[in-house]
Amino acid sequence: MVAKLSLHRCGRCSEAAPVRAESLIELVAPALCWSCRNPSPARGPLCPRCAAALPWLDGRDAPQPPGLDGCRAPLAFEGPARDLVHALKLRPAPRVARLMGAHLVHGAPPETWRPDGLVLVPAPASPWRTHARGIDHTTVLARELARRTGLPVGAALRRRGAPWSRQRGRTRRERLAGTALSVEASRPAPSCCLLVDDVMTTGATLAACAAALRSAGARRVCAVVYARVL
Ligand SMILES: [Zn+2]
Repeated sequence: MVAKLSLHRCGRCSEAAPVRAESLIELVAPALCWSCRNPSPARGPLCPRCAAALPWLDGRDAPQPPGLDGCRAPLAFEGPARDLVHALKLRPAPRVARLMGAHLVHGAPPETWRPDGLVLVPAPASPWRTHARGIDHTTVLARELARRTGLPVGAALRRRGAPWSRQRGRTRRERLAGTALSVEASRPAPSCCLLVDDVMTTGATLAACAAALRSAGARRVCAVVYARVL
């Protein structure tokens, strides 16, 4: 979404240049930290204090959900990392996705992004969430990773079932049983897939996504997740 603002001129031709609505809002309201809600001097999603408090897992491997060839989750789902995940779900703002994408690229080993033919595949959000917000927040995150790594995004998965079905509030057993039935591939899957998700709790969603991708032709399926529940 862009808006024309006559005060902003192009440096080359002096014509009025489009200004992002996000920048326009910042002219009249200071950016607040998404975690502590104090003004953020750097105008980023996190103030320096919260950025320094991010719960990095420092290379501790994530548990491997069934069907995955590898899974990286650089942060614990706590503190500022949890607040960023909630911010992305609430309103997939570009600045939040940019910061989370930077954390993922920084936190995952370089070989994560290198296999030939690798395609980023966002884990599908529940239909009610996509319907309510117009876009999948994991797709926003995957597009940011694509911008940073040069890898393509293939939206090969979708959730089945009632639009109101959600994972929150279910037991682990219910999640593992229910999710396996609720993800399907909407097209033939790329041979080498890198699933992108925001948070991992039991790994049931990733396992269901991996199974759907393999049944659609994928031979190798790994995952990058922003944060995991310890
Ligand atoms: Zn803060």
